[in-house]
Amino acid sequence: PPRVFSGVQPTGNLHLGNYLGAIQKFVALQHQHECLYCVVDLHAITVAQDPNELTRTIREVAAAFIAAGVDPKKNIIFNQSQVSAHAELAWILGCTARIGWLNRMTQFKEKAGKDRENASVGLYTYPVLMAADILAYRATHVPVGEDQKQHLELARDIAQKFNNDFSASISAKGYGDAFFPQPEPLIQGAAARVMSLRDGSKKMSKSDPSDQSRINLTDDADAIASKVRKAKTDPEPLPSESAGLEGRPEAANLVGIYAALAGTEQDAVLKQFGGGQFSAFKNALVDVAVAKLGPIGAEMKRLVSDPASIDAILKDGAERAHAIAAPNIAAVKDIVGFVR
Ligand code: ATP
Ligand code: MG
Repeated sequence: PPRVFSGVQPTGNLHLGNYLGAIQKFVALQHQHECLYCVVDLHAITVAQDPNELTRTIREVAAAFIAAGVDPKKNIIFNQSQVSAHAELAWILGCTARIGWLNRMTQFKEKAGKDRENASVGLYTYPVLMAADILAYRATHVPVGEDQKQHLELARDIAQKFNNDFSASISAKGYGDAFFPQPEPLIQGAAARVMSLRDGSKKMSKSDPSDQSRINLTDDADAIASKVRKAKTDPEPLPSESAGLEGRPEAANLVGIYAALAGTEQDAVLKQFGGGQFSAFKNALVDVAVAKLGPIGAEMKRLVSDPASIDAILKDGAERAHAIAAPNIAAVKDIVGFVR
């Protein structure tokens, strides 16, 4: 049966890219599938985190899922560190993955920067943990932003290599032809890659030091308006057709954001605003952004004011996640040949 898994790191302020690239899709998928939505705190500590701030952001990410419309009864909302399967399977899959595969990961290169020798080992093996997150539940579908495409491909390679390396044991022990499914990335829509408001060549990120680069889910109407109006653009008016956006990354980004927020297509947006000045388009963009994000931000603030309720949701989710993962981990240990 199809099973959806996705994770968001508690690494700072959630933003429009997280919402349009991932969380909004979580909401849509819950109606057809069994979904697990994870606050990936083990991933977060691959770069230094202040402990008190980490605790706060774990609850805030869970609150964002719920505020955006993910039902915690219908779905499993939990934090990664409460389910030991993730770390256990990551070790075993780390012995399946090859160093050469990890050396090709662009996120590591970007996040480690120039001082690569000084990056944490965890940052380097991050994609192995991500493969374990997905495969611990034998998940089949993974809604993520475009930036995670390469990690998803690696997860597929790891699943396939495990199935091949242990194919004799898998069939001898009655687990069928292949133990892990090939997880499919769900990367779609006008905003699968939302770019920074300050630089159209960089993706919008929680870890960008400039708060002006992103629209946070908890920004109020004034902050949203000011960031959109100050967003980098070029001096040309908007084109009337998509082809006219080529070589204009900042303009293309704002049009994509508008289309995703308004639930329409890029072409329709250009038809409406093409030929006009940027300022008029930006005012309309502020209106759709405030209408969409205002209620989510307000609900997030309400939810985090009651941490005990969020903790109870996370604990319940962790128990339900553990119930799915535990037999899979037991099977993996059996396949590998561990005595239990
Ligand atoms: P960090 O900078 O700490 O890595 P982040 O903003 O990249 O934070 P993540 O927690 O790494 O956020 O990613 C959570 C989800 O949001 C992933 O599915 C990721 O693909 C998606 N996502 C992140 N940034 C964007 C973006 N700019 N556009 C679309 N999707 C995004
Ligand atoms: Mg990221």
